[in-house]
Amino acid sequence: MSWPLTIASLMRWAERHAPDSTIAAVDDDTSEVRRSTYRAAFERVHRLANALRRAGVRAGDRVATVAWNTQPHFELYYAVSCLGAVLHTVNPRLEASQLEYVIRHGGAEIVFVDPLARDLLDRLQPLFPAVRQWITLGRAAAPRWATYEDFIQGHAAEAAWPALDEGAAAALCYTSGTTGEPKGVLYTHRSTVLHALISQSANAMAFTRDDVVLPVVPMYHVMAWGTPYSAVMAGATLVLPGHRAGHAAFLADLIDSAGVTVALGVPTVWLGVLQHLRESGRRLKTLRRVIVGGAACPPALMDALAVEAGITVQHAWGMTELSPLGTFNRNAPGGAASATGKPYSQGQAVFGVELRVVDGDGRERAFDGHAQGRLQVRGPAVCAGYFQSDDRSSFHEGWFDTGDVATIGADGHMRITDRAKDVIKSGGEWISSVELENVASRHPAVLQAAAIAVPNDKWGERPWVVVVRKDGAAVSEQEIRHWFVGKVAHWAEPDRVVFAAALPLTATGKVSKRALRDQYGTALAPDGASHG
Ligand code: AMP
Repeated sequence: MSWPLTIASLMRWAERHAPDSTIAAVDDDTSEVRRSTYRAAFERVHRLANALRRAGVRAGDRVATVAWNTQPHFELYYAVSCLGAVLHTVNPRLEASQLEYVIRHGGAEIVFVDPLARDLLDRLQPLFPAVRQWITLGRAAAPRWATYEDFIQGHAAEAAWPALDEGAAAALCYTSGTTGEPKGVLYTHRSTVLHALISQSANAMAFTRDDVVLPVVPMYHVMAWGTPYSAVMAGATLVLPGHRAGHAAFLADLIDSAGVTVALGVPTVWLGVLQHLRESGRRLKTLRRVIVGGAACPPALMDALAVEAGITVQHAWGMTELSPLGTFNRNAPGGAASATGKPYSQGQAVFGVELRVVDGDGRERAFDGHAQGRLQVRGPAVCAGYFQSDDRSSFHEGWFDTGDVATIGADGHMRITDRAKDVIKSGGEWISSVELENVASRHPAVLQAAAIAVPNDKWGERPWVVVVRKDGAAVSEQEIRHWFVGKVAHWAEPDRVVFAAALPLTATGKVSKRALRDQYGTALAPDGASHG
C-alpha cells in the first residue's frame, strides 16, 4: 500500500496501541514531576490543533516555539505538524541578535514562549511586527501575552486531521551558526518518521515499552535527537526535564524519582553528573544506559561513567542536517571491548545514512581506519538544502559535506578526528584537537580539556590545551605537557597548557572552541601570562 509516513500516523498508532504509556514532565513552576498518559497528552494535542486552526494557522505556516523540554512543548510538536503547519523550534539560549534573525527568517506569525524566556522576548517583541500572537507556556498572564491554557481552553478534544503528503514540511530547526548566519533545516514528515525508525533500530537507540527515556538534549535543538517521536514510536515512558536539565543534582534526583533507564545528552552534561556522583557518593538506581553525542566524548569520561557509575555509555554522532543521527556505537566501554578502542569511536552508520570520506579534490578515500578526509553523507533524513537559502556550499553531487574530518575503518567504524575548522594545522601536518583532548582528559588531575590552534609565525598554528583541573587537584603546566610525551607525535605535543576555571559553552551546551580561540588565540601576551 502507499501509506504516507506522517507524524499523524505515529500519533494515531500511539493513541491506539500505547494509550497508557506515560509522559512524566517536570512542571517548571513547582519543580514537581507530573505524570500523564499518552492518551491524555494527545487529547490536549487535539484541543491545541483546534485552537491553532481557530487562530488561523494554515498548512505550511510556521509556528515558533522558544521553550525547554516541557509537556506543552511536546503537545506543540504533534499538533503543529499534524495540522500540516511547520514547528519552528528556537533556541532560547541564542544571543539576542541570532534569536531575532532566526525568528524573523522562520517567518512564524504565532510564537509560543517558555515563561523563562518571556522577559527577553517581551523586550524583543517590537522587532517582530509580523508576529500576530504571543503565547506564554506558563500560567501567569501578562500584557500582550495569552496563556497556553487559555489558548486551548474550550476546544474540542477531537480534531479532524488533514490528509498530508509525507513530503510535506513538518519542522524547522536552525544550525548553531558558529560562523555566518544560522541556517534553517526543514524536516519533512517522511524524514522525521524515517529518522525515528532508523534511530530506534535494535543496533541504535533501541527503546522499548519498558524504557523510561530522558532526553536531556533540548527540544529546541534538532528535535531533542528525535526522541519525542522515537520514544513514542516505542511506547516508552518519556521524561521531560523542564529547564533545569543542566543542573547535575536536579538531573540525578529526576533520574531516580522518574526511574529513568536511558538518558541522552552532550558530554558536558554527563561530566557534570559524574562530578555530582563523585561528590555525593550516590549511585543512580535505575539508569542503565546513557547515549552521548553532539560533541566528541572523551574516552576518560566514558570509562568513568562505566566503571564508577555502572552505566552503559554509547557514543553517537550526528548533526542538525541529519535529523540528527548519523552513526551509533553499540560497543560500550568496560570489559574487553575497551581494549579494542572501539567503544570510543563515533560508531557505525545506521541504515539510512551512507558515509564516505573524501580528500581535498573530492576523491573518495579508503575505508582503512587511517585515510582521513572530509566526511560526507547522504540518506533519506539528510537535508537537501537550507530553508529559503541559496547557499549550496555544503552540497556536492548528491552528498552533504558535514564539515567534520574523519576516518572510517574496514568494519565501518567512523572516528571523528576534528571539526574541519578546529583542526590544528602546524607546519603542513594536521593535529587532531580531539586526540589532544582525549589524552589530556586521561590525566588524573584533569576534569576537562579543550585543544585549540593558536597562530604561530613559524608553524602557522600550534596546539594549546586549555585545562579545567579537578576540584582540589594541583598540577602544573609542565606536568601536563610532560604527560603528552610518548602519547602523541612529538610535533603534536601542545606548546602551552593553560588553566581555566571552566570552559565556555555554546548555546547548545558544547564547548565553544571559537570563544577559546578568541580568548587565547589573540588576547594572550607573547610571554603567555595567563595561568588563571
Ligand atoms: P549540531 O548540528 O549543532 O548538532 O552539531 C553537529 C556537529 O557536532 C557535528 O558536525 C560534529 O562536529 C559534532 N558532533 C556531534 N556528535 C559528535 C560526536 N559524537 N563526536 C564528535 N563530534 C560530534
